[in-house]
Amino acid sequence: MPELPEVETVRRDLHRLLRGQWVKNVSVNKEKMVRGSTSLFKRNLRGLLVQGVKRRGKLLIFSMTDDKSLLVHMKMTGQMIYQSKQTLVGGGHGQPRVKRDELPNKYTHVVIVFGDGARLFFNDMRQFGYMRLVNAKQLEQVVKRFGVEPLSKAFTPDKLRRLVRGRKTSLKNVLLDQRGVAGLGNIYVDELCFLAGVRPMRRADKVTDREIVKLHKAAINVLKRAIAARGTTFNSYRDGLGGEGKFVRMLKVYGRSGKLCVRCKTILKRVKIGGRGTVYCPVCQK
Ligand SMILES: [Zn+2]
Repeated sequence: MPELPEVETVRRDLHRLLRGQWVKNVSVNKEKMVRGSTSLFKRNLRGLLVQGVKRRGKLLIFSMTDDKSLLVHMKMTGQMIYQSKQTLVGGGHGQPRVKRDELPNKYTHVVIVFGDGARLFFNDMRQFGYMRLVNAKQLEQVVKRFGVEPLSKAFTPDKLRRLVRGRKTSLKNVLLDQRGVAGLGNIYVDELCFLAGVRPMRRADKVTDREIVKLHKAAINVLKRAIAARGTTFNSYRDGLGGEGKFVRMLKVYGRSGKLCVRCKTILKRVKIGGRGTVYCPVCQK
């Protein structure tokens, strides 16, 4: 699933490419990919202008004229692909790899055509993602369900301390909960726990204040570096510019179970926490 750095990479590219463009036409091939009435979605989106593309957690928010916002969640396997005469930009999940002149493909569920002829394809193999057009009030309702943005000033060690306090579940479960911290997923939680030297299966309320400070710092560090590298990509995943995200080569634990710890050369272990595969170093992480 695309996590904060991958969604942020798509956001930056689409913001640059789509700001100021107006929606000329909308076609929906799969009604379940659009929340609410499909005919209203198409009718109301047509004619609106993209004022900018924002993000909250893993949710993309296209700010449109008329106080409307187009929400896009890529969930597990969603892709957002922009195509104009000169440019092909893809972001989101890596499969299947998309080539010019092959769009729309069998996983294309929504196509938005802009005034300059460019097209935005919403593809999703497993169809867990969605699009939704909302007004300002509905946007407020959606956004307030998200927790703190880890790269905002509101994310402080004290904020993190309050999130783990009294929680008898694992640290990993607390960090994955989008209502607490928005945008983290399996990859970046494992990575930040390694950087902080804390085991993700530790009971959240037993994590010490000193460890909280380390976890807070590690979260910001790993997310910033991942965004700078245009995210983590596997296989043929395409980032927002059709290149490959470079962070995959910088991963210390995620996807490396059975391999040697980069720091102490111990074999990394894999466990399941709440059904999620989790990799850690039994020596470096306490
Ligand atoms: Zn180690």
